[in-house]
Amino acid sequence: MADVNQKLEKNVQGRYYVTSVCIGCNLCAEIAPENFVENLDEGLYFGHCYVSKQPADKQEEALCLEVMDICPACAIYNDGLKNSN
Ligand code: SF4
Repeated sequence: MADVNQKLEKNVQGRYYVTSVCIGCNLCAEIAPENFVENLDEGLYFGHCYVSKQPADKQEEALCLEVMDICPACAIYNDGLKNSN
């Protein structure tokens, strides 16, 4: 289980965030592109995704919850909670 302290620095402030256990599969950015993007800055977390914008409506919220559920690395949290994979 990921430590919530492993939150990636690039996440915007807010309820949703990605942690360092992300494996960079890019699934979240494909399904919820309004809220998740791949980190293309060189460095330790190159290729990992992070939350670029918190969900602004019910549709975005639903997609964020969906990617939280299907993230293969269980790297996406919502207020310190994660999926139950
Ligand atoms: S779905 Fe999970 S493992 Fe894949 S890029 Fe997004 S946060 Fe990382």
